[in-house]
Amino acid sequence: MSGDWKKGLYEGEPYVSGEQPTRPVIKLNTNENPYPPSPNVIRAIRDLDTDSLRLYPKQDGGNLRVALAAHYGISKENVFVGNGSDEVLALAFRTCFGTDAPILFADVTYSFYPVWCAFLGISYEIVPLNENFFPAAEDYKRPNGGIVLCDPNAPTSIGMGNDFLREILEANQDSIVLVDAAYADFAEEDAVPLTAKYANLLVTGTFSKSRSLAGLRIGFAIGSLEIIHALMAAKDSFNSYPVGRAAIVAGEAAASDEEYFRMTTERIKRTRDETGERLRALGFDAPKSQTNFIFAGCGTPQRARALFEYLRSQDIYVRYFDMPRVNDRLRISIGRPEEMDALISEVEVFLENERS
Ligand SMILES: *Cc1c(COP(=O)(O)O)cnc(C)c1O
Repeated sequence: MSGDWKKGLYEGEPYVSGEQPTRPVIKLNTNENPYPPSPNVIRAIRDLDTDSLRLYPKQDGGNLRVALAAHYGISKENVFVGNGSDEVLALAFRTCFGTDAPILFADVTYSFYPVWCAFLGISYEIVPLNENFFPAAEDYKRPNGGIVLCDPNAPTSIGMGNDFLREILEANQDSIVLVDAAYADFAEEDAVPLTAKYANLLVTGTFSKSRSLAGLRIGFAIGSLEIIHALMAAKDSFNSYPVGRAAIVAGEAAASDEEYFRMTTERIKRTRDETGERLRALGFDAPKSQTNFIFAGCGTPQRARALFEYLRSQDIYVRYFDMPRVNDRLRISIGRPEEMDALISEVEVFLENERS
């Protein structure tokens, strides 16, 4: 073949997710929930009317949208649902950042943001976090084509909080502020109430972490009627039916089970705080986490990598990012208490080996 058919092929650098091993291991590398979904979800999937699968689902997510609105105490018109929050975020980038001005986001944050910018042709400027991985509000007080804030932030686990978001919103009334709140259910504050006051704020969320449904792919966005309408139009220009019937009934069941949701998130937060204490007692630098993971500082990149490799050899998977500013740290998802006990024991063995 001699034709130049490859000239138009996509050549962008993709986002790389954590490993999904096929063997059973202690899996603390992709921030999944260690607990099963709500029993109501299991019932909803078992009782699914399979004959209905002949038919397309509701284009807007139907009762899933309604259940999310009830959970947040808002109107369903302010809710958008999609096939995982990665899809919702990509659509939101396309929908909200249509000017030529560069959008702003942090240097240490969800590494999918620059990938979507490249994919969608959106220009951006990186705004470095300070040495404690906190953003400076002043850095966001300049002309921009939009702002993306991950709050609480990944992979740092640090929450910015609504006072910080309010300051950013007050200073940026001419652009859209997108808050990726994938971990907000584990945090002290939630940005959703701010959407009542700020029509230029869009908050995205996911069922993959706090709702134990990473495998089903459900994400959502909450914002003003104007932004939600624009998102719907973007969806209908790309994929009209992003959420299938099984995901709609299961997601509705998950969003409606407040008691199970509270119980599992509280349990994870307790395990997180205990694990943070134990790691700090062993000499690791772990900032106070507002998420379902811990960002453990190991001192040097060599040591972080060695601990990552050692844990992996013991079938404990955590995440190592070989990137500037964070290559001396490990991101450790919160599992069940007994999984965290196993982690701590192996960390102690590693430290013991280091001394001898
Ligand atoms: C996990 C995660 C997402 C994506 O969630 P999905 O709904 O599984 O696509 C988005 N943003 C951040 C910061 C995340 O950690």
